Amino acid sequence: MNEHYPFVNPPLPYAFDAMEPYIDAKTMELHHDRHLQTYVDNLNGILKNYPQYHSLSLEELLIFVNSLPTALQQGIRNNAGGVYNHILYFFNMENPGMKEPPSPLGEYIAKEFGNYGNFVKELSEAAMSVFGSGYAWLAADAFGRLKIITTANQDTPFSTGFYPLLNVDVWEHAYYLKHYNVRADYIKDWFQIINWEQVNDRYKMFFAQA
Ligand code: MN
Repeated sequence: MNEHYPFVNPPLPYAFDAMEPYIDAKTMELHHDRHLQTYVDNLNGILKNYPQYHSLSLEELLIFVNSLPTALQQGIRNNAGGVYNHILYFFNMENPGMKEPPSPLGEYIAKEFGNYGNFVKELSEAAMSVFGSGYAWLAADAFGRLKIITTANQDTPFSTGFYPLLNVDVWEHAYYLKHYNVRADYIKDWFQIINWEQVNDRYKMFFAQA
């Protein structure tokens, strides 16, 4: 991913059909090439005439969005969020995924949620509870303590002071072609294709003591 403006849509690190049978190739293609591309284009369009912000990274734009000119804030929230959330979603996938998260993240998940099965249940319930479009997340607070949260639209955990580790996109465009309106089936399938090694590395990157 480009560090700053102009942002680019990074190619997927796998083929469009790599997540079959859990997520179909057409959904992956449209989701990446059209939905994510639109957020990239919109974000660059918003920032075009603001060279003073061209050195800000995606994360900086999101963390400091409330310090930007009021006229830019919602557009940045929606579109920098749209880029960030989708890149995280796509790059945290592999097929087949690991059955359970490796150490140390696996231990922290067990500590916080009882066991992995219970974590799956809680994250699934959170994802089902999102009304309309949004995401459910595994996130961490500033001390590295894990928490499941939900966000609406393209909001990110940064806006409430959390570090994003893993997200499931529950906008209908993420699953409608294959799972129709049955979000629960999509969530169940998504749990089969989590790249836990990647999520674990991300946790370690944020929290060097881990
Ligand atoms: Mn999406």
